[in-house]
Amino acid sequence: MTYRYGLIGWPVAHSLSPPMQNAGFKAAGIDAEYSLVEVAPEMMDKVIPEMKTKFAGWNCTIPHKQHIIKFLDELDETAKILGSVNTVVNLNGHFKGFSTDGYGMEMSIKESFNANIKGNSLLFLGAGGAAKAVALYFAILGAKRIGILNRTVEKAIELKNEIQKINSIIEVEYDDMSAKNIDTSKYEILIQCTSVGLKAGDPTPVEMNIIHKHHKVVDMIYKRTEFLKMAEAKGCQTADGVGMLLFQGVRAWEIWTGKKAPVEAMRASLNDALRQREMGIK
Ligand code: NAP
Repeated sequence: MTYRYGLIGWPVAHSLSPPMQNAGFKAAGIDAEYSLVEVAPEMMDKVIPEMKTKFAGWNCTIPHKQHIIKFLDELDETAKILGSVNTVVNLNGHFKGFSTDGYGMEMSIKESFNANIKGNSLLFLGAGGAAKAVALYFAILGAKRIGILNRTVEKAIELKNEIQKINSIIEVEYDDMSAKNIDTSKYEILIQCTSVGLKAGDPTPVEMNIIHKHHKVVDMIYKRTEFLKMAEAKGCQTADGVGMLLFQGVRAWEIWTGKKAPVEAMRASLNDALRQREMGIK
C-alpha cells in the first residue's frame, strides 16, 4: 500500500515540499507519495474529514494554519501554545497537529552558526505569521532577549505581548524598521522575516547601519537576498531560508514515519529543485 501525504494550502503550486519529501521516502525505502492539495478556505469542511481515509498525514500552509485546528483531535504542546499547525499525522482516524517551523529555524541556526537559542539574544525583522511562529517557539526554548522590528508597530507590540505570556522572564523590546530606539549591537542573531527581498530589485528591509559585524544573519527567504549580500559584505556570517524549509520538513517526515529522516537526500533534492526553479526549468 502506498502511503499518501501532501501539502494543503491555497495556493500551493509554488511549493518545494514534494521533491524534498519524496526524496526522503525514496531514500528510506518507504512506499509513500507526497503531493500538492489545493484547498480553498470554503472547501475545508468537506475536504478535511475525507482525509481520514485518504491521507496518512499532511502539511498545512497559508491560509489554513489556524483554521485547521478545529478539525484536529489533539495538538502537540508547541502547536497548542502557538495556536498554529503546519503538520498533521493521521493516527487511524485520530488527527494530531504539530508546528515544526520554529524547529526548522532552530536547526538552521544550529547548523549554520553552531548557536543555541536558549540564553541567546535574537532580533526579528518582521512580525508576520512566520516571525510569530519562530519567535514564540524561541520564547518556549528560553531565549534571553527578543527584539522585534516591524513596519506596523502595533503588530510588533501584539507579538511582544504574546511572547511575554509564554515566557514572563524574557526581555522583549520592539520598534519600527528604523530601530532608532533599540541598541541592535546587543543581539547575536538577526532573523529577517519580512517579505522584502522576495522580488528581484527589492531593497533591504532595514538600513544597513543597524547591522554589526558580529551579527549572525539569517534570511527566511530561500535565496541570497540583497540583505544577505550586504550583511556578508559587512563581515557577518549569513544563512538563507533553505535550512528552515529543510528542517521543518525533516521534522514533519519524522513525525509521520517515526524514523530518523535521511536529511542529506532531502537536502540534495531540495537544492536541486531550487536550482531548477532559478534556471526557470520548473
Ligand atoms: P506575512 O505574515 O505576510 O508577513 C509579512 C511581513 O513582512 C510583515 O512583518 C510585514 O510588515 C513585512 N513587510 C511586507 N512588506 C514590507 C515592506 N515593504 N517593508 C517592510 N516590511 C514589510 O508573511 P510570512 O508568512 O510571515 O512570511 C514572511 C517571509 O518569510 C516570506 O518571505 C516567506 O516566503 C518567508 N518564509 C520562509 C519560510 C522558510 O521555511 N524558509 C517559512 C515561512 C515563511 P507589516 O506587518 O507592516 O505588514
